[in-house]
Amino acid sequence: MIAKRSYDCLVIGGGPAGAATASLVAEQGYSTLLVEREKLPRFHVGESLMPETYWSFERLGVLHEMDRIGFTKKNGVQFVTSDDKETAPFIFSDYDDRDCSMTWHVQRADFDQMLVDTAYHCGATVADETRVLDIEIRKQSPHKVILQPAGDKSKEIEVMARVVVDGSGQQAIIANRLGLKEQYADLKKSAIWSYFTGAKRNGGANPEVTCILHTNTKDAWFWYIPLSDGTVSVGLVGDNDFILKRGGSPEKTFYQEMANCPGLKRRLTDAECVSKFHVAKEFSYRCKQQAGPGWVLVGDAGGFIDPIYSSGVFLALKSGVMAGEAICQALAANDLSAERLGSWVPQYNSGVRWILKLVRAFYTKPFSFGDFVREYPHHRGNLTNLLVGKVFEGNPGAIFKDMDPWIERLTHETAAV
Ligand SMILES: Cc1cc2nc3c(=O)[nH]c(=O)nc-3n(C[C@H](O)[C@H](O)[C@H](O)COP(=O)(O)OP(=O)(O)OC[C@H]3O[C@@H](n4cnc5c(N)ncnc54)[C@H](O)[C@@H]3O)c2cc1C
Repeated sequence: MIAKRSYDCLVIGGGPAGAATASLVAEQGYSTLLVEREKLPRFHVGESLMPETYWSFERLGVLHEMDRIGFTKKNGVQFVTSDDKETAPFIFSDYDDRDCSMTWHVQRADFDQMLVDTAYHCGATVADETRVLDIEIRKQSPHKVILQPAGDKSKEIEVMARVVVDGSGQQAIIANRLGLKEQYADLKKSAIWSYFTGAKRNGGANPEVTCILHTNTKDAWFWYIPLSDGTVSVGLVGDNDFILKRGGSPEKTFYQEMANCPGLKRRLTDAECVSKFHVAKEFSYRCKQQAGPGWVLVGDAGGFIDPIYSSGVFLALKSGVMAGEAICQALAANDLSAERLGSWVPQYNSGVRWILKLVRAFYTKPFSFGDFVREYPHHRGNLTNLLVGKVFEGNPGAIFKDMDPWIERLTHETAAV
């Protein structure tokens, strides 16, 4: 229930980024309104988490909730080659035996609901089924936000906010409005995914992992994420044109590529598809600016790289927590300038760039994690650190001193064949 017409902070979007920001700002006693256009809980893609998400969970005080809900534990990542060779899994606890090395595969409806509930318990007003129709971004805050409750197209509610946080995900409302989005020309990918019961999964001595399976042309790959309700989330990712412009339905494309992926075929032999096929496209971009006077972009609304390493929720929560802290300081100092609200952005982007570099390495066709680690066994720990999400501390870029020339050499060798 939106009781007031003016708030210290209005957060758009009940995803992980918006919920994390709203929790931190409301916790400090600032009036906070979180608006979500869908009815909660709502379906969302993005089920495999990165272990370093642990620290955001700890900051938000939700670690016990993660345990209580009982999501599937994720212990590592395994890459499966196009001829169904399973490379040795990167088991996170082999490199760090603390609790933070274990993470989860989550059903996003339950996960995101838990995070929004946390924002509510921290003191935020939560209005689901409420769409942001328009934002009047002024030179200085407060900004005017026009809201519309679902099911009542005749009704509009005007709310003033000292700080507007855009956590609207790929809608990226503010970035689109201000023309801040820049696509990564080399990462124009699309995805088709669905859910299966009766799919093979690990058990007993073999820990549950996220599998990444290459197709035999290496033009596409599949994710394979076992969930706690017995289903497995399976998604195909490749270049836009390769995935979406071949004619036929998304379902047909999915099964055509599955025929090129023996590792997946084997895993889905006795499986039944229990959901429709979903499609997402052109999801990778960055924003030229992530904060302005009285506004901040968090999570996907500020940029998204690629699903390959499951970094989306990790970065959504990380940016939400970092932005939330910066907003509290800015409100306390009554300084809502771009510099103050975006004080966290340089540090954040310095971590994100290592994930981006590893994404680009993956999409270099001759690249293989197995081959790289065989040639540079001393980098196995560094690689695991990147896959875990340890990109904001230590020297995460050290591995690229060897990986960059190695990729260049492979690329030349392949071109020469
Ligand atoms: C194909 C694919 C696979 C992925 N797989 C993974 C994975 O395995 N692991 C992982 O960590 N990440 C994954 N991701 C990324 C992950 O889904 C996102 O990074 C993550 O959900 C971002 O969280 P967010 O809070 O920024 O945005 P979202 O979770 O998208 O939340 C944004 C919210 O804003 C709401 N909203 C939008 N417009 C309005 C409006 N006008 N008014 C009010 N509310 C609005 C939306 O309804 C939504 O609930 C994947 C992404 C894709 C495309």
